[in-house]
Amino acid sequence: MSLIVQKFGGSSVADAGKLLHISHIVKAAREKGRDVIVVVSAQGNATDRLIERAREVSGEPPERELDALLACGEQASAALTAMALASSGVPAVSLCAWQVPIRSDGAHGDARIAGIARERVEAELGRGRAVVCAGFQGVDDGGDVTTLGRGGSDYSAVALAAAFRAEDCLIYTDVDGVYSADPRVCPTARRLERVSYEDMYALARAGARVLHDKCVALAQERGVEPEVRSCETDAPGTRVGPAGSPRGVTGVTRREREGDAYAAVTLVGGALPSLEAEKRAILALDASGIAVRGIDAQERCLTLYVERERSREAVCAVHDAFFGD
Ligand code: ADP
Ligand code: ASP
Ligand code: MG
Repeated sequence: MSLIVQKFGGSSVADAGKLLHISHIVKAAREKGRDVIVVVSAQGNATDRLIERAREVSGEPPERELDALLACGEQASAALTAMALASSGVPAVSLCAWQVPIRSDGAHGDARIAGIARERVEAELGRGRAVVCAGFQGVDDGGDVTTLGRGGSDYSAVALAAAFRAEDCLIYTDVDGVYSADPRVCPTARRLERVSYEDMYALARAGARVLHDKCVALAQERGVEPEVRSCETDAPGTRVGPAGSPRGVTGVTRREREGDAYAAVTLVGGALPSLEAEKRAILALDASGIAVRGIDAQERCLTLYVERERSREAVCAVHDAFFGD
């Protein structure tokens, strides 16, 4: 039977209503005769709240214990999702990483997936259940819980899709695809039908959190083509794969680091870097009265540093200079 991986991010599983809503999406896939592996993130901002709680008792929480704590967010979400599925008439079982198991190295807070065992998941699917895997978690050789880095449930989803040779890997989120800029920052951003692995990786590294960078690298390595779509509409969104958008410039994003006075605004695309693009971006920022504090050129990227407070405006100004036609 054909298998599909459906990953739901934090806002898509934030409360009971959302859990029941996504249960219908899973149910619809099952009614088309497909086996389903569901991957979930922690609900809403549960991970941030757990981090705050750790900081209340420790200025520098031991990384092993922090991972043990943070993994609880996804464990709760997976169990609640399995319950919501059952009450929607879909038999389901939740599995944490150590139950699958999803093995990882021991790099707490930024672990890499080393392998996924197939037996348990296959047995559960064979019993006619939807399998709900907790995202973001791994288990290392010593049996300790690890986490995969912030936003790491995308990475879990692609790793599961690769391990089980899923026909589709759908990443459901709160936007209906990957855009030429964060649509919450830049109202003129356009949805992209396809993005190449290379551009998506560069966008993720430069701060577009819509997909995790390790997830994109693994997708390319294993030939998985994740599709980002909205859990509201369930309509086709953006496919990430070998072929990308035909434009030489794919998108613009920004990265702010805690404590830094400047933010990095990065243009990504196959035609970059170029002197021509550099001039156009600087002119656009100048026209908005935003000073450029530094420039950096890397493969497929052109980065401009601007004052942190003005980074949203800067993204829009640069975006419109390249996508305004
Ligand atoms: P989830 O909880 O579903 O994993 P995230 O918050 O991690 O969702 O990622 C989705 C968010 O990514 C969107 O709400 C959007 O604000 C942001 N985002 C940043 N850059 C882009 C982009 N280029 N295209 C689409 N969304 C983007
Ligand atoms: N819950 C984790 C985080 O907030 C992982 C994820 O959302 O993918 O970073
Ligand atoms: Mg995310």
